[in-house]
Amino acid sequence: MRPTILQPLFTDVDTLKGIGPRLKTLLTKLIDRPGELKDPRKIDLLWHFPTGVVDRRNRPKIKDLKSGELATFDATVIAHKGPKFKGKGKFSKAPYRIKLEDSTGEIDLVFFRIDPRYLERQMPVGEIRYISGRPELYADYLQISHPDHMLTKEEFDTFPNLEPVYPLTQGLTGKTLQKAMSQLIPSIPNLPEWQDPEWLKKQRWPTFHDALTTLHRPEEIEDIKADSLGRQRLAYDELLAKQLSLALVRRQLRAKKGRVIKGNGSIRNKIIEALPFALTGSQEMALGEIFADMASDNRMLRLLQGDVGSGKTIVALMTAAAAIEEGHQVALMAPTEVLARQHIESLEELADKAGIRLGILTGREKGKVRKQILLALEEGLIDCLIGTHALFQSDVHFKNLAFAIIDEQHRFGVEQRLALQAKAGPKGAELLVMTATPIPRTLLMTNYGDMDVSKLTEKPAGRKPVTSRVIPVDRLEEVMIGLKRAIQEGAQAYWVCPLVETSDKIELAAAEERHAYLKQHFGDNIGLIHGQMKGEEKDKVMAQFSNGAIPILVATTVIEVGVNVPNASIMVIEHSERFGLSQLHQLRGRVGRGERQSSCIFLYTSPLGATAKSRLKIMRETEDGFIIAEEDLKLRGGGEMLGRRQSGERDFRVANVPNQQELITAANDDVKLILHNDPDLTSERGKALRKLIYLFECDEAIKLFRAG
Ligand code: ADP
Ligand code: MG
Repeated sequence: MRPTILQPLFTDVDTLKGIGPRLKTLLTKLIDRPGELKDPRKIDLLWHFPTGVVDRRNRPKIKDLKSGELATFDATVIAHKGPKFKGKGKFSKAPYRIKLEDSTGEIDLVFFRIDPRYLERQMPVGEIRYISGRPELYADYLQISHPDHMLTKEEFDTFPNLEPVYPLTQGLTGKTLQKAMSQLIPSIPNLPEWQDPEWLKKQRWPTFHDALTTLHRPEEIEDIKADSLGRQRLAYDELLAKQLSLALVRRQLRAKKGRVIKGNGSIRNKIIEALPFALTGSQEMALGEIFADMASDNRMLRLLQGDVGSGKTIVALMTAAAAIEEGHQVALMAPTEVLARQHIESLEELADKAGIRLGILTGREKGKVRKQILLALEEGLIDCLIGTHALFQSDVHFKNLAFAIIDEQHRFGVEQRLALQAKAGPKGAELLVMTATPIPRTLLMTNYGDMDVSKLTEKPAGRKPVTSRVIPVDRLEEVMIGLKRAIQEGAQAYWVCPLVETSDKIELAAAEERHAYLKQHFGDNIGLIHGQMKGEEKDKVMAQFSNGAIPILVATTVIEVGVNVPNASIMVIEHSERFGLSQLHQLRGRVGRGERQSSCIFLYTSPLGATAKSRLKIMRETEDGFIIAEEDLKLRGGGEMLGRRQSGERDFRVANVPNQQELITAANDDVKLILHNDPDLTSERGKALRKLIYLFECDEAIKLFRAG
């Protein structure tokens, strides 16, 4: 159960005064709560931080008001003058004026197109009101048109000097949000301290209560900045919560017995015999680590990191073979249909020779075909099922799933990982996760802290470096000439155009236009592939490109992940300034896989921004994915990197701060110490830390608490 002290924070926002169903819907859209759209709760609103402040500390008397200078003052309403109410929605052109005075002078408030009845209600003659707005000169007189605020004394008493400005959405005003916040802030609880007192003192961080309160009620403009003491503390709170819960889950998984999978080597031997090459040292080493995991009775939870083209697929097949030798079934998950099919194609021959029965299940297998696959799976006629998200569906039953391999982890979440493991029955599945995006160390800690890591650092022999060139799009002609020559010599090329997002619509036009243009130069035989095409169409084009029937494949980024066409030796990336480093690296990794000298051309459109310039420079200088990933993290300053796109479900609500990496490292040490000193979280600090985990909703760890 969630601790009682936190309960109020987790009630729906519509329990706040002034928030009804309409505003709740708007808040649902506005508040970026991890996962799908869910009803926002008070805590979600509290995590919605201001991005700026309006300084209302200027408190002059009326005679000291200055044109253009935001002022807040109190005055007595002395007269109304303006058009009378004409009926709903009907407005006079004439302005409506309200005259105010204080001991030093008078000023008019001016309103246009407004219901006079509202003003009469809000501003009765003889009453004192607190006005905040920007005076302006009109025919030599100062006046304030449509002041920001007209408050009663009571309202003013809780009104902030520095008014926070929140991100809003259409239909939701700052005032409404402000009102909701005003009710919320006093209810921020005083929680027992979960941070180490020495550490807190050293950092000069405030308590949780004060940190959160100050963010919403800043006293200085600096208070809301990402490097403010309060913000830092909350970021650290979140990082600590996430890492601690990952560590707890990991410990739990370790404690549970896994399966012992040794195999007799029969299938693996056949694969090795059939392989046209020798495994690299890295591959051998990774396999050694994985086989050791499988053979021990600990549950395997291992991440295989290997740059694009480092040969992860064969590692996957070999490990799958070990499980199949013992009569188990294996699931191999890919993030996209294209990749799933590519896997099955590239593995088919080897699998055949080794006697492994492969199956495929994606969104495309429907009706009868799907039924047959599911039946074969249940009867154990499929040894290794390759597929996409479709594998998670509830009617997919394995006969005896024992081993799950997930390719390109960053597209799947921890929950999905668990869902797949659940299909393996009470004994669970050993898990191998493969990622082609090298993950910087600090990110490993936050996102994969529960895993062991193997790395493929060595590329298969014979791989030639890719020549990289950065060229402005004005020199397209030049590129075309070079391309023509290469194509005549039998080379093949990818030509990548980014998708352009115009509001909700995704624009394909650029790729289509380029496709048409290339056709003019190279004839009709140019392929086009994009995400909106049907699966079969994509396959057809991929197959044509793969067997050399088409020389150039124009693509949106659907080819980003994992596609393998060794004869393709040229990669042209248009608008390369719009891509992130890891994406550029992935794309370039599509070439340099075969005999030909490969090249990658980064086309850009001037002017280049500073970040884009640095990115392209890095791309020109190195091909090492690990260096690129570290540089990427530096360029992005950490924040974005932890965003949903990179890390699947692990979305941070507070922790997007500039020095995040240092905080991550500190939290990592902290967690080790905590679990060493207080493994069951029973000390005072331990109990407080449990609350922290509830506060940040680290569900997996919470499940552990519940289970006792
Ligand atoms: P990735 O790690 O990007 O998934 P792949 O597994 O697709 O890489 O391998 C890329 C290419 O390298 C494939 O064509 C594969 O057959 C080949 N390959 C893998 N291992 C070796 C090796 N040890 N020696 C030579 N070629 C290899
Ligand atoms: Mg791969």
